[in-house]
Amino acid sequence: MPETRGEAHITGSEQDLALIGPRVRHACQRLWAAMASADRSPDSVALLLATKTQPPAAVRAAVLAARDCGIEPAVGENRVQELVAKAGVFAELGVAAHLIGPLQSNKISAALTALGTPGLAGACIQTVASLDLAHRLARRTTASAPLPVMVQVNVSGESAKSGVDPRDGVSLAEQIADVPELTLAGFMTVGARSADSSVVIAGFDRLRALRDTVWHSGLPGTERAHDLSMGMSGDLDWAVASGATMVRLGTAVFGRRPAVSY
Ligand SMILES: *Cc1c(COP(=O)(O)O)cnc(C)c1O
Repeated sequence: MPETRGEAHITGSEQDLALIGPRVRHACQRLWAAMASADRSPDSVALLLATKTQPPAAVRAAVLAARDCGIEPAVGENRVQELVAKAGVFAELGVAAHLIGPLQSNKISAALTALGTPGLAGACIQTVASLDLAHRLARRTTASAPLPVMVQVNVSGESAKSGVDPRDGVSLAEQIADVPELTLAGFMTVGARSADSSVVIAGFDRLRALRDTVWHSGLPGTERAHDLSMGMSGDLDWAVASGATMVRLGTAVFGRRPAVSY
């Protein structure tokens, strides 16, 4: 078909923007279906929009579309610079903001300032994988309430992935739970990069078992360590079946990203 003048002036990004609403609705349906087939209640899994590389207009479109589906989403950024740049937009939308990428020591203050932006519905650092980072966060946070954090676990053992070794996950989490300036909210992982579903599911089950051990330990500060942030566009169904309480969706909502390595 010849290109019409009407279509020709639509830029790629306007087209992408128009696709976000339908994609979000589709993602919500996938999430509901996954919860239903796992016999879980429709509000048992939260939706985090992974907004890396997305401009404010796309973030806004996705948040509003999720609300239209009756889901109040959180947003997650991988890079502190992007979190800083978009914190105002997140606050204006009144969503909770999470850091889901690695946090270097020299970015701690910037991350904490961004996550303390008035108007945000909440904040969390999902990527704490060492006691050293937990202590640095505790020293730097100036918030009146404890800062919610999750322990990131590398369930697949893939060397390219961040996170604590699962064998050290329980003791790390129990020590972090005991840091008064932090609230241990749960655990986060990026699933194995494998076409074999049993490998991916075994990793999710391992995170859940780790969470259960810590949550049921009765140790100080572990009573809120309930969240399981696991499942992305490619593996959300398995994650929900394994007990995820939060899935993190990028591609399913925003389409394919330009190639950036995170
Ligand atoms: C990008 C990203 C996601 C979303 O991944 P998709 O496969 O695009 O849904 C989730 N979690 C983390 C940590 C990410 O970096």
